[in-house]
Amino acid sequence: MTTHEVRNQPPPFGGYDLLAGDPALVAALDRWSPSRGDVTELARLAATSDPARWADQADTYPPVLRTHDAVGNRLDEVDYHPAYHALMTVAVGHGLGAEPWLANAGTGAHVRRATGFYLWSQVENAHLCPVSMTYAAGPALRHTPALAGEWLPRLASRVYDPRLVPVADKAGAIVGMGMTEKQGGSDVRANTTTATPDVAGPLGSDSVRLTGHKWFCSAPMSDGFLVLAQGPDGLGCYLLPRVLPDGTRNAFAIQRLKNKLGNRANASSEVEFAGTWATPVGEPGRGIRTILDMVAATRLDCILGSAATIRQALARAVHHTQHRAAFGATLIDQPLMRNVLADLAVESEAATLLALRLAHAIDEGESDFARLGVAIGKFWVCKRTSPAVAEALECLGGLGYIEENGLARLYREAPLNSIWEGSGNVNALDVLRAITREPASLAALAKECALARGAISLVDTAIDEIESVSTQAYAADAPWLARSLVERLALTLQASLLVRYAPPEVAEAFALTRLGPDRGLTFGTLPAAIASGAPGRILIDRATPRR
Ligand SMILES: Cc1cc2nc3c(=O)[nH]c(=O)nc-3n(C[C@H](O)[C@H](O)[C@H](O)COP(=O)(O)OP(=O)(O)OC[C@H]3O[C@@H](n4cnc5c(N)ncnc54)[C@H](O)[C@@H]3O)c2cc1C
Repeated sequence: MTTHEVRNQPPPFGGYDLLAGDPALVAALDRWSPSRGDVTELARLAATSDPARWADQADTYPPVLRTHDAVGNRLDEVDYHPAYHALMTVAVGHGLGAEPWLANAGTGAHVRRATGFYLWSQVENAHLCPVSMTYAAGPALRHTPALAGEWLPRLASRVYDPRLVPVADKAGAIVGMGMTEKQGGSDVRANTTTATPDVAGPLGSDSVRLTGHKWFCSAPMSDGFLVLAQGPDGLGCYLLPRVLPDGTRNAFAIQRLKNKLGNRANASSEVEFAGTWATPVGEPGRGIRTILDMVAATRLDCILGSAATIRQALARAVHHTQHRAAFGATLIDQPLMRNVLADLAVESEAATLLALRLAHAIDEGESDFARLGVAIGKFWVCKRTSPAVAEALECLGGLGYIEENGLARLYREAPLNSIWEGSGNVNALDVLRAITREPASLAALAKECALARGAISLVDTAIDEIESVSTQAYAADAPWLARSLVERLALTLQASLLVRYAPPEVAEAFALTRLGPDRGLTFGTLPAAIASGAPGRILIDRATPRR
């Protein structure tokens, strides 16, 4: 610079070991997985400069739709920037697809994969949408063993192969999902897409022809899609291959790509089906039941992705405040900034721990606990992400609002996990459904929380109240109260996990400020004794990224 010297500005964020520098994550991985697998290697790769560049490029140069070729034939292809494929190659190549469903029980495969997903989400979230759907398709496909036999090994493969060729010719495949239609949205019972049996079809004697549309269909270059459509027995779940066994393209008209707030590296499309071939998955007319097995797994990824987003935003805030001074002190040493960072750190640890505990529940087959825990976690952790990221962004001042600094991309991404796979209200109402129709799920949650009894009186009181809070789910006015009920259960579950697995100072800070009377409505409202004392020091230390 000829006019001035650039100083008091932070060095570029980067080179941090996202695993070693995240004590809550390391402890969860080591507690619930007998080995770290190649998660350490993934963390090392994430710390290098290439992935950060891919993330910027994939976000800056979004996918482009080509509906027709030069002479007017339908093409229906999406071109991605090479950086997107580089990100996908790493994600699939490190087992973030459906691999855990083929692993032996007790091997911690879901926790290892969850840790990898959490780490790689911090590099770039958007491309993980198809990776998540590929993971989640596993349990749904198992409803039809013949389909699972053909598809699951390919969805579990570590080979990323983006070519549009018959699935039988591929070592690795990607799967998407199509539930949402214009007139129905969350209420998929209103779907109008039809499935008409045609025994002469190319997918065997149970081939159907789909006619209709999907209003949102992400990752339209996937090899297959699980879709809901009205069949002869009611709403069914169907598997739609993009390429038919003879190599010809299935009818799959991509009308346009959505112009999205964030999540730009991922293509989300509107599609139309006109005589599109598909084949049933699961029992006829039980499509919602079948696809819910997929949705439960994508919801877990929403929790993981949101926890990762909070963690990455916090790491960037700590990095910045370590290197910037104002009013005579480094920002990280200013009392009020320390309060904000410590409060964000409490939120981050609680989110990370809950996400990994739920992945462990999948490994252990704790289906009752997972049923309610995932519904609660999906509502709560995803809801907390936007305010947490906004606060972390503000720690950078004006720089936070500038795209190059990474926080802006996280901020644009932050609301999404709360919207898809069941928006907030739909999720909160699902918690009521779980409590009233599957009471074993509430019993499992209460049992889990009770393991934390005897350490902190505020947590004990919250555990005592689980039963009375939950009876509200049966009341006539339950829908009016669903959010406050879920919030209370989520905080109780998170507090109980922190009591059992986090340093006592972290658990106490959480209990006091989330369950006790000392609650502020913004981050940075911890009581002075907590923020300025040992809890504050420990919290910020655990949130500080390390090389
Ligand atoms: C980027 C992106 C990608 C997507 N990709 C896919 C995809 O690949 N496949 C797919 O199938 N879908 C996809 N979706 C769609 C997404 O799952 C839906 O947008 C979401 O489920 C909500 O449905 P909707 O948009 O129709 O909203 P609506 O159903 O109209 O809901 C609008 C609002 O009303 C609330 N609401 C609904 N019912 C109730 C009720 N009974 N009481 C109180 N409040 C209620 C909801 O919580 C929501 O806040 C994607 C969405 C986005 C944004």
